[in-house]
Amino acid sequence: MLVKTRGLVTKTVNFGEGDKILTILTEKYGKIQAMAKGARRQRSKLVAGTQLFCYCDFVLFKGKTWYYIDQAEIINTFHTIRNDLVTLSCCTYLMELAGEVVQPGQAPGRLLQVVLEALELYAAGESHPEVLLRASELKILAYAGFKPQLERCVNCGGTTEAVSFSPGSGGVLCPVCEKSDPYRYSISRGAISVMKLMMGWRLKKLDCLRVDGHILKELEKIMRAYVAIHIDKDFSSTRFLDSIKNKVTGRLK
Ligand SMILES: [Zn+2]
Repeated sequence: MLVKTRGLVTKTVNFGEGDKILTILTEKYGKIQAMAKGARRQRSKLVAGTQLFCYCDFVLFKGKTWYYIDQAEIINTFHTIRNDLVTLSCCTYLMELAGEVVQPGQAPGRLLQVVLEALELYAAGESHPEVLLRASELKILAYAGFKPQLERCVNCGGTTEAVSFSPGSGGVLCPVCEKSDPYRYSISRGAISVMKLMMGWRLKKLDCLRVDGHILKELEKIMRAYVAIHIDKDFSSTRFLDSIKNKVTGRLK
């Protein structure tokens, strides 16, 4: 059976002599795995459209265990992402995260749109890489059902100014409740405000948001813990990002 869908290639693995197995976030069928026969052979019509980050109109043959790629007509390759290591690793992380939270058979809806918007902004190269990373991460998590509670205390529901963030409970804690979670992180008023803006504003609009380095550090710590608890996966891309961040001066400070 032939099916058509738009999709974003989030992972590629070489297979056999000249084939590739792709993970694709598709508009219609959620996360799928698809075999691209001969895609590593120079003359294959599938060479260009089966690269990582390619957004294509796919024609797929649905076999018993696999989808097979019949055609891949490119809409966007976001090719400038590869020109910068920080950008590349941020995008790789967002691909990994989106690939983890989107399930097979479940249309990703707005989540895929957020990922595409993030790739577009990274490809344009004008956004602060880490602000864009945190905002995209928060939005992906929110669309996947892990929206952190920032408006009121996640334990008592009170609206007293929060002082901690509980990754396990998924939200902020007031001064009375903070002891309920020994694994809480202290959180500043500034960091809460930035998180609210990141969730509320479109990614493009966040270009004009200036975030202090210490708030970005705070958010990185909190979000790492939050992702680690709710998405049970070790992201190799974050380790890579850490290793290059130490070498790239000025970019992320
Ligand atoms: Zn409380």
